[in-house]
Amino acid sequence: AKKEGRNTYRLYRSEMDLAMQHHLTLETELRTILDTGEGLFMAYQPLVSRETRLTVSAEALVRWQHPTRGVIPPGDFIPLAERSGLILLLGERVLDNVISDICQWQQQGFEVMPVAINLSAAQFWQSSFVQHVEQKLADAGIPPKLITFELTESLLLNKQAQGIEILTNLSELGCRIALDDFGTGYSSLSYLQHIPAHSLKIDRSFIEALDDPNQSSRPIIAAIASMAQELGLSVVAEGVESEKQWAILGNYAIDTIQGFYTGYPVDADTFIMNLKQYPLK
Ligand code: C2E
Ligand code: CA
Ligand code: CA
Ligand code: CA
Repeated sequence: AKKEGRNTYRLYRSEMDLAMQHHLTLETELRTILDTGEGLFMAYQPLVSRETRLTVSAEALVRWQHPTRGVIPPGDFIPLAERSGLILLLGERVLDNVISDICQWQQQGFEVMPVAINLSAAQFWQSSFVQHVEQKLADAGIPPKLITFELTESLLLNKQAQGIEILTNLSELGCRIALDDFGTGYSSLSYLQHIPAHSLKIDRSFIEALDDPNQSSRPIIAAIASMAQELGLSVVAEGVESEKQWAILGNYAIDTIQGFYTGYPVDADTFIMNLKQYPLK
């Protein structure tokens, strides 16, 4: 038994070492690709009007094209970037990539719709963030109204007044603001009236729960949607995967649908080709 215990311990140790090694390698590699900018790209997922079924916007989702591991999803490297201080550089690359994709779409003759970018806390609280965005967009000749910034409620926690000031500046610049993953955080609904947002995205967990008759997500969705509407916010349902969910959501004050049912995230070329092919009776 002793021997077994020791082996188990050893195994455990070496697994830890391996995990640690893996982590360090990934961090080093991330640092390298952030320096060069090579290897990161954006996938775009359509946001579709519930009423017209037209694509009205796209969310940009970062991907890492790794030489041996394939495409790595953001959940596998954003936390790492946040812990290792690389998140600001990552955010910068994301902004650059989206701008360059928009420019490319424009050069190809498309009328570009608003594109949503996810903001990390570090990026948002960076000093002169708004001026920085303004400068970048101006340099590229992109009207600020083409950019939506998505942020979660937790980002404003404890620093609401300062946060609202930044959001107001962003909004005055002409960018749009979306409250992401809504309903999962701390917020009391009343705080919504103070936030200068344009849209609210109901978190995927509520949509997923529609399939479970024992969960009462319907009244929650109904309440969030009607209140947001009263406040003049446009409402997005996230993570819609089925015809059935699409149909149920038609009963509520929901303007826009995002999810695998209406479109997967795809690279910039595929996104614009899809738009060209089937928009949209
Ligand atoms: P998010 O902002 O909530 O983005 C939506 C996520 O849900 C995306 O995952 C998307 O692929 C996925 N999704 C969309 N529709 C469906 C559906 O119908 N079913 C299911 N199961 N999933 C769906 P992804 O691309 O892996 O991104 C995960 C998270 O990583 C994002 O969640 C966001 O928080 C973060 N993220 C992604 N790109 C960026 C970025 O450029 N910057 C920052 N700071 N964070 C990012
Ligand atoms: Ca988002
Ligand atoms: Ca979300
Ligand atoms: Ca999320």
